[in-house]
Amino acid sequence: MAYDNDNIFARIIRGEIPCHRIHEDVDTIAFMDIMPQAEGHALVLPKIAGEDVFSTPPESLAAAIRTAQLVARAVKQVFAPPGIMIAQLNGQAAGQSVFHLHFHVIPRYAGKDLGIHAAAQADPAKLAAQAERLR
Ligand code: AMP
Repeated sequence: MAYDNDNIFARIIRGEIPCHRIHEDVDTIAFMDIMPQAEGHALVLPKIAGEDVFSTPPESLAAAIRTAQLVARAVKQVFAPPGIMIAQLNGQAAGQSVFHLHFHVIPRYAGKDLGIHAAAQADPAKLAAQAERLR
């Protein structure tokens, strides 16, 4: 599949549509997932165009995982979950729905199932407040 320059994350990176930003540097950006699977669910992306783990250069993957570690630390500090899941999906069959590579950083609680993937939109004011705390 060819990379779609107008996918939603490419547009967020270009600043064409807003996001609840947590962190940004030259290579990466991190923001709140608008349909969180748990409170504090964040996304981390390399800025370079690449739809999945196969088409993203290793240096960009490395930059993204560095930012994912930073964001996971912030999530741990702010939400104090007992566990944090870092996930990255490749292909529709794996559940990928936005075709610009990204890592999910999701707080996890013992005995609590993960919320449904990309199902319900969260309150924007709540997401903005969470992003501020994580920043
Ligand atoms: P995936 O299914 O792994 O491709 O994940 C895509 C994620 O992006 C889902 O968890 C969606 O809830 C999330 N998402 C979709 N549109 C936006 C958006 N505009 N801002 C933030 N997160 C988004």
